[in-house]
Amino acid sequence: MITRFAEVDPVSPDPKIIEEAGELIRNGGLVAFPTETVYGLGGDAFKAESSKKIYAAKGRPSDNPLIVHIADPEAAEKAASDIPETYWLLADAFWPGPLTMIIKKSEAMPEETTGGLDTVAIRLPSHPVAAALIKASGGYIAAPSANASGRPSPTSAKHVKEDLDGRIDMIIDGGSCSIGLESTIVDLSSGKPQILRPGFITKEMLEDVLGEVELDPTLLKPSAGRPKAPGMRYRHYAPQGEMHIYIGEQQAVSERINSELDKAKAYGKRCGVICTEETRDKYEADSVVSVGSRDDVKGAAAEIYAVLRDFDDKGIEVICSEAFSEEGYGLALMNRLYKACGYQVVRV
Ligand code: AMP
Ligand code: MG
Repeated sequence: MITRFAEVDPVSPDPKIIEEAGELIRNGGLVAFPTETVYGLGGDAFKAESSKKIYAAKGRPSDNPLIVHIADPEAAEKAASDIPETYWLLADAFWPGPLTMIIKKSEAMPEETTGGLDTVAIRLPSHPVAAALIKASGGYIAAPSANASGRPSPTSAKHVKEDLDGRIDMIIDGGSCSIGLESTIVDLSSGKPQILRPGFITKEMLEDVLGEVELDPTLLKPSAGRPKAPGMRYRHYAPQGEMHIYIGEQQAVSERINSELDKAKAYGKRCGVICTEETRDKYEADSVVSVGSRDDVKGAAAEIYAVLRDFDDKGIEVICSEAFSEEGYGLALMNRLYKACGYQVVRV
């Protein structure tokens, strides 16, 4: 298959290109498109065949459900049933934006899209290209991240091309994603609202609207059991190199990373370091990447997947990462780093 590649203005995309992409999706095709979080790989959410194609293109296990993207909150009425009051409250507070809500699915929503579950994940993205494409394609785009399963999520069209060129109908290039981490997922389908995946919309922000919100306990302690979001069970976001995160007082962490680098270099390994502006000068390796200032979680989060992919491009075999605060949005960044390294954490 030849993948068509089209560049658009991220704020006011060419309506002809959006119409063409919308038609591809309406006819059962797949189109990758930018959102404010990461690039999505979209198909018609109501076509079981389209969802099957998404799993095949990504090499994704078919029990890992897709997120249904809509263009206005009321559209959930066709995709879902028994919509709780909490849905409308959160939609009002955070949509359009990087929040996904899990509610009961409707009869009409195919199980292929929901990975066999009786619930459905719904999000209303703010990116103008995503919003326009959802409308042009009939209102319901099922989309996971547009990466090959197991690779870091794509935050630019170049990343999508690396993973999916020749496997999907079209890639819309609308520049890089401003947030750079996947949406927060909150489960509203039973009991207390529970965060299944941390993201830009934090626990504190959700609690301001809903009162008490729980965290899936496996987010902080992987040994606590099976994560409720199927996608959180797989080793995800993984670079090819062997990665460890070093947690502790800054000076001690830098010393420990340097001693690990010395060891790895002695074996002739190519090494990479993820650090911050404050510590950048302390390291020497094949690739030392500062993801910005220590206090700027948003900046670091926006960079992190591109950094992991760049390490793969450079053939980095050993990756040492500093840790960040787990307060607020920091929890989302650390969750992705933990998953990238398969929870190989060294406390210094
Ligand atoms: P991605 O868009 O690639 O980040 O993947 C979608 C994420 O949403 C995966 O982690 C899924 O497991 C999760 N998800 C989608 N639908 C549901 C659902 N009904 N219940 C729980 N998690 C879901
Ligand atoms: Mg994904």
